[in-house]
Amino acid sequence: MAKILLNKENLLYNFGVISKQTGSVEKVAVVLKDNAYGHGLLEIATMASEFGIKKAVVKSIEEALVIEKLFDDILILAQKDIHTYSHTFHIALNSLDAIKNLPENINVHIKVDTGMHRNGVMPEELETAILGLLEKNIKITGVFTHHKNSDELTTDFYWQKSVFKGVKENVKTICEKLSLAIPAFHSCNSAALFRTTDFDEDFARVGIATYGYLDNAGVFDFPVLKPVMSLWASRLATRELKKGQSVGYGGTFTASEDMTVSTYDLGYGDGFLRLNERTAYTTPKGYKVLGRVSMDNLSLNTKDEDVCIFDDVHVLAKLHDTITYEITTTLSPFIKKEIV
Ligand SMILES: *Cc1c(COP(=O)(O)O)cnc(C)c1O
Repeated sequence: MAKILLNKENLLYNFGVISKQTGSVEKVAVVLKDNAYGHGLLEIATMASEFGIKKAVVKSIEEALVIEKLFDDILILAQKDIHTYSHTFHIALNSLDAIKNLPENINVHIKVDTGMHRNGVMPEELETAILGLLEKNIKITGVFTHHKNSDELTTDFYWQKSVFKGVKENVKTICEKLSLAIPAFHSCNSAALFRTTDFDEDFARVGIATYGYLDNAGVFDFPVLKPVMSLWASRLATRELKKGQSVGYGGTFTASEDMTVSTYDLGYGDGFLRLNERTAYTTPKGYKVLGRVSMDNLSLNTKDEDVCIFDDVHVLAKLHDTITYEITTTLSPFIKKEIV
């Protein structure tokens, strides 16, 4: 069976680098949304908790419920209807309008739009948002924002940082006026955290760096991290291909001499994005994906029983003209995980 191996040593190494950058393990919130970027929600959550991480970030309440016992605080980014609640949960407020749908007596982190223009209340709407939440007896436990360009060398990063600085001052003033506790402030994802030399926020929301990737766009002096995931496929059938015979849909790979080929139990149905005759890909051991990847199979020029398909997704991300995030996140949650 195809499987995902999770390298625990590499994961702990990455957590070490990350908590050094934040200054302490208490300031790390591990981002576990979308099945921990395809790595397995419960598997990564358990190892993060063992490392001493106390905060997590997910997309939905369903994800939060799976890991509820493992963390002190769980930020839920994109849940509209709060059908289940635990005091470990903190719900992200993504617009002023969303206040009316929130139940009373919950914890909320207000998201502020500092320039990405995706989610969040505008800085000038903050006081209205805070008063609206108070009317529902909602506790404001955090105020945060998200960078649109932390991984590229543009001025947006500094611009958003300065807008958020103003937001923090404004929130503090409002809270003092209303005798409210000062909420936790956070703005950094992985790239923003590693671009910040004087990190002084309450915590950082670290996703992709946890899993061993940080794209430095060729300009930043980011530390080297270690990919946690490797994907393995298992042999289904082997045959001898005669010179001139071709393999798979469209017959787009033709043998230039007699050769041995095998099929393996992995395809685009498992979330391994389809490779074809225009995307030459070689596995870490040097085997070639022959022709087109099918829904449940791919062909390689070997008869090894188990083959590592990748142990670093940079090459595949480049081939597919996408980002490392998409390669791991699209993998099917049904692929078995093993911690090694
Ligand atoms: C996904 C996400 C993150 C994590 O980003 P990385 O680049 O993977 O570190 C942080 N904050 C928010 C709001 C997110 O949606």
